[in-house]
Amino acid sequence: MTKYAFFEGEIRSIHDAKISVMTQTFNYGTGCFGGLRGYWNQEREQVYVFRILDHYRRFLHSGKILMAHVPYSAQDLAEITIELLSREGWRENCYVRPLLYKADETIGVRLDNMRDAVTIFSVAMGNYLPREEGLRLCTSSWRRVDDTAIPPRGKITGAYINSALIKSEAHLNGFDDALVLNQDGHIAEASAANLVMIRHGKLIVPPISANALEGITLASIIHLAQHELGVACEAREIDRTELYYADEAFLCGTGAQVVSIASLDHRTVGSGSEGPITAAIRALYFRVVRGEEPKYMHWLTPVPQVVPA
Ligand code: PMP
Repeated sequence: MTKYAFFEGEIRSIHDAKISVMTQTFNYGTGCFGGLRGYWNQEREQVYVFRILDHYRRFLHSGKILMAHVPYSAQDLAEITIELLSREGWRENCYVRPLLYKADETIGVRLDNMRDAVTIFSVAMGNYLPREEGLRLCTSSWRRVDDTAIPPRGKITGAYINSALIKSEAHLNGFDDALVLNQDGHIAEASAANLVMIRHGKLIVPPISANALEGITLASIIHLAQHELGVACEAREIDRTELYYADEAFLCGTGAQVVSIASLDHRTVGSGSEGPITAAIRALYFRVVRGEEPKYMHWLTPVPQVVPA
């Protein structure tokens, strides 16, 4: 159970981290958030947070879209998070949720001239369960929010209505998740994860301008594929039917991690089970996040253990 949150400038009991129903962001969805994972390495009895500074840089970029004035740098937020996790003392995988919100308690929607506040909490997120059977996806009947309306480049709380519509429709129709098309009819991503398609031995991903999030897991995977596995990557438009022809495909994200796609719209993708390139990427990704790849330790921040007095 979560014990602490960073709230109103200090780490305090989670029970004391409460906002008013009048809070602007609660009323209008004008906040932004992040999502980071901490991975527990059993042998070293150590939690490692994955790419903490990159997550907070993106968090502050999302804040820029919302005209937020944040008195913290990415480094400050990273230090606060490590202190919070150290106090929390997770001895398992965990997930960190920072939120930036408009704290004014007034009626009237706008972004400028507001008091901006940051809160951070963490939850245990269990062990990774391999989904060897792969995901069964559909194409959503919803379209992805557009940069001209609600910019999906930022992790903006209100924009997750779009993700929620996509995810619930997919679930209620018996699928694990959905791919969503942008206004041009090309694939953007899944409800809350980026898409990677593999054709002819190469990774192909939708460009960020297709209205996908600038995914940190995606960037990490492209780097690992290119530099460690010698697999090239190209960003270009992908049609829904091209995925029916794919040799392999997977979703990636902090929450999703790396999970293969078994089918789309009832058409088997590739062999229908995890392909060799996906398997190699997934295995390497999990070694990296658990601190088993010395070359990539710079992507990890260890959480100091508080020794009980
Ligand atoms: N797309 C969306 C819409 C998301 O919410 C997420 C999860 N943050 C991702 C992609 C994956 O991004 P990341 O790898 O940075 O977690």
